[in-house]
Amino acid sequence: MEQRGILFIGKKFSKYILALCTIFIFIGCTHKAPVTNRSQMILMSHSQEMALGEQSYKQALSKAKVIRGTRDANRIKSIGYKIAKVVNRNDYKWEFNLVKDKAKNAFCLPGGKVVVYTGILEVAKNDDQLATVIAHEIAHALARHGAERVSTGMVAQGAQVLGNILIGSKAPHLSKTFNIAYGLGAQYGVLLPYGRLQETEADEIGIYLMHEAGYNVYEALNFWQNMSEGKKQGSEFFSTHPSSDTRIKDIKKVIAKIEKTKRQTLNRKTTPSKDTKNPSLGKRVY
Ligand SMILES: [Zn+2]
Repeated sequence: MEQRGILFIGKKFSKYILALCTIFIFIGCTHKAPVTNRSQMILMSHSQEMALGEQSYKQALSKAKVIRGTRDANRIKSIGYKIAKVVNRNDYKWEFNLVKDKAKNAFCLPGGKVVVYTGILEVAKNDDQLATVIAHEIAHALARHGAERVSTGMVAQGAQVLGNILIGSKAPHLSKTFNIAYGLGAQYGVLLPYGRLQETEADEIGIYLMHEAGYNVYEALNFWQNMSEGKKQGSEFFSTHPSSDTRIKDIKKVIAKIEKTKRQTLNRKTTPSKDTKNPSLGKRVY
């Protein structure tokens, strides 16, 4: 009798949690990524995200050797602000810093805090190639990928708790097995491919930003080629990132789209027409 009672409360409770999760996911799913228009589940406000970025950035920089005032440090800043100007978002507090680290890597924290490691300077052979990686990081911030990952983690944790309540009340001996299986599933089945999706999206948005800021988008192909050569020496960038072949192929498609839009715009400009209400003319890309 008592056990049935627990089961009954457990079922009622889990229904309640399920309903709550559904509401959260529904509210969270109303976000859309720029350029790609992909639906996103983000369970935190913009200001919460900013505060999270600010805090993590201070922590990250306090442990790092920030290079200031050198030609390269200034290059990072000037390329960064040039792209940020195109983004035109006053709610982001952009910062671009060069950090002494041999790793061929860069990262961006929520709110627009970008860090480039000196290792990247070995593979980014010119300003356009450096703009590739900086625009990619800016794209992560714009598309709120950090907040999205945290939100996925929140739901994953919620599901694990829920699973334990359900299994624990019916078959306590299975709950350990569930946790192990779930842990592996969450890591390899949900979180990892999601990371790759975000990477591809950051590439796409980044290429548009680079283009808008006046950089040569074809240098992005050379940059990723250089990175793939550096891969043999071991690069953290590739742990969750798509393979460079896939990446280069995808970037070529984005460049083709940009070229097509450029040609169409040029044709419209050279063809006299009274129709000035073309929906794609003058439309911003993000
Ligand atoms: Zn990335």
